[in-house]
Amino acid sequence: TPARTPLMAGNWKMNLNHQEAVVLVQKLAWTLSDKRHDPSRSEVVVVPPFTDLRSVQTLVDGDRLSLRYGAQDVSAEESGAYTGEVSASMLAKLGCSYAVVGHSERRQRHDESDAVVNAKAKAALAHGVTPIVCVGEGLEVRQAGEQVPFTLAQVDGSLAGLDAEQVAGLVVAYEPVWAIGTGEVATPEDAQEVCGAIRARVRETLGDAAADGLRVLYGGSVKASNVAATMAQPDVDGCLVGGASLQVEEFSGICRFY
Ligand code: PEP
Repeated sequence: TPARTPLMAGNWKMNLNHQEAVVLVQKLAWTLSDKRHDPSRSEVVVVPPFTDLRSVQTLVDGDRLSLRYGAQDVSAEESGAYTGEVSASMLAKLGCSYAVVGHSERRQRHDESDAVVNAKAKAALAHGVTPIVCVGEGLEVRQAGEQVPFTLAQVDGSLAGLDAEQVAGLVVAYEPVWAIGTGEVATPEDAQEVCGAIRARVRETLGDAAADGLRVLYGGSVKASNVAATMAQPDVDGCLVGGASLQVEEFSGICRFY
């Protein structure tokens, strides 16, 4: 019996304005209520664009389903002359529980290194916002069979300097880049191989409490039809969901995987 509450996070990416966000979150809440969702069986998180966060906040405050929300990125800086960036303290003030850091789309399009991801994770933690630290290999690395060492190097770099207590409360999302938005989901065994290696690495470097508390998510073409097999793996504690999180029936099915 895992002490870790499964986490299902829906990354909307650059989709839905604040009015559309209101509609989606209301439908999600109604659907989960209809399905008698039990929040102790999976924690449900939506990760909308920054411009939607305030609207989402007004909807889910005090919600019986304990819906939570987070941001898709956060600045590594505290405040000041950083045009276009959004700070962790701003996210905390808006009631964000989480901030995704190091999503592969940001690593690729914005050249985010592990050092940048690490600084963002620390900024989030300093304000009580839990980072969802994304790692995962591309197709060439997978074809070379190097997915475990590649991903563990990202974990080492992205979590550098964090202590056991911080890591115990953290979320790491293993998202093989070749599985993101492609419809090609990793097999449950492939997901377990890397998710298990991530936890083992944390156990080695920071000890049992950190390894047993850390939630490791799988991400990449998760759907209601394939989520149960992935969730049956011992080291998969939830999913980071892109495309399917925009479809209420799909995402509520994912949240009700149990
Ligand atoms: C993601 O972007 O985090 C993701 C997993 O996307 P998708 O579910 O669409 O593959």
